[in-house]
Amino acid sequence: MSPALPSVAVVGGSLGGLTAALVLADLGCDVRVLERSGSALEGRGAGIVALDDTLRWVAERSDVDPETLCSTTSRVRFVDPGGATVHEREHHNRFSSWNTIYRAMLADFEARAPDRYGLGREVTAIAGDADGAVLTEASGATSRADLVVAADGIASPTRAALLPGVAPRYAGYVAWRGTVPESELPEPVFAELADAITYQVLPGSHVLVYPIPGPSGSVVRGERLTNFVWYRNVAAGPAFDDVMTGVDGQVRPVSLPPGAMRPEQVSAFRSDVRALLAPVIAEAVLAVAEPFVQAVHDIEVPRMAFGRVCLAGDAAFAVRPHAGAGTAKAAADGWELAAQLTAHPGDVDAALAAWERTQLAMGRALLARCREIGDSSQFTGTFTPGDPALSFGLRGPGR
Ligand SMILES: Cc1cc2nc3c(=O)[nH]c(=O)nc-3n(C[C@H](O)[C@H](O)[C@H](O)COP(=O)(O)OP(=O)(O)OC[C@H]3O[C@@H](n4cnc5c(N)ncnc54)[C@H](O)[C@@H]3O)c2cc1C
Repeated sequence: MSPALPSVAVVGGSLGGLTAALVLADLGCDVRVLERSGSALEGRGAGIVALDDTLRWVAERSDVDPETLCSTTSRVRFVDPGGATVHEREHHNRFSSWNTIYRAMLADFEARAPDRYGLGREVTAIAGDADGAVLTEASGATSRADLVVAADGIASPTRAALLPGVAPRYAGYVAWRGTVPESELPEPVFAELADAITYQVLPGSHVLVYPIPGPSGSVVRGERLTNFVWYRNVAAGPAFDDVMTGVDGQVRPVSLPPGAMRPEQVSAFRSDVRALLAPVIAEAVLAVAEPFVQAVHDIEVPRMAFGRVCLAGDAAFAVRPHAGAGTAKAAADGWELAAQLTAHPGDVDAALAAWERTQLAMGRALLARCREIGDSSQFTGTFTPGDPALSFGLRGPGR
């Protein structure tokens, strides 16, 4: 390792943390990942839009062909409640699943840095000083690093400690989500959904359906999953608490995973599906065995670097999902950190200052765009089929 390069502890081993770990290890840094979860992370099978930034590691530095991790569609289609097409155009999208990308990136990290990805390593405190920080884990173990990348997610304990005044702001709606094997869909439904991202705009809402890789990663048509996301307004307070209360009676402010919804919630949801969604979308959604729900939040931080500790990915800015860019932004934070450490050899503080400037700007711009799209769908009724502003992208529509 070059003496000019910092040792790095990455807190959180999801897609944001893994990308940072990979690019910094590739730069020559001594990197270790501390992941709270005690067992290999499970993505619960839901889909993600695979933007170039999300797949950049795989495309540029891995032996894996990124196309093997993605399902593709060639059209965007909007249907009306009766199922008739109201807008359709050629537009290519790639989709993947959290699991599929995570598996590929973790294998690369373990090959490059054996035994440096630690599961069951919950960080409970980070004490920064001028040259680095001391991390304390739940086990009581302590260790030191020159640089700490906190990629500990939307509920980031690191953010809570560094910026106690910053809290997730509920956007006023939740996303109902789920997947079903394409092989379980009636043939006409499969045929209609297989090569498109299919939208339906409803009053104060929209739903979208697209194919993602199958449970074992297959992107062969017929072996994939069909993924749906339906954004629905739920007032904060008792209505929200009701939706987010699982079978165990606990209210979960961020998400209720598959299998955790109360049966009466699922049957009320299915009644709404039958009443409100276009037949082709309804058939796919009704075939989902375990729909689940995620609350939509905005998080915005005024700073991302605090001495030698920095916040990356959802720990810094968590954006509404409408640009399909959450994992892309998290990945971009890692790549830019490596770029700035390269641009400022031996000067971690200068690198972090430059990194913070660019990534704050990126986070703010993405947050604003996602808010605008979400509000246009849920609150102002200006979400228009075919509007190019709705295209996914980290740096702007389609970019
Ligand atoms: C299990 C899982 C499944 C997901 N599935 C999807 C999906 O299907 N579709 C989608 O669009 N997005 C999904 N996401 C979110 C998506 O991956 C994130 O938007 C994206 O990865 C960027 O987030 P991140 O890496 O910044 O944080 P996250 O992905 O939220 O990861 C944060 C990580 O930090 C760990 N952590 C938290 N606190 C501590 C601590 N104190 N010490 C150590 N580790 C800690 C968490 O266990 C977690 O692994 C998923 C995230 C997770 C964790």
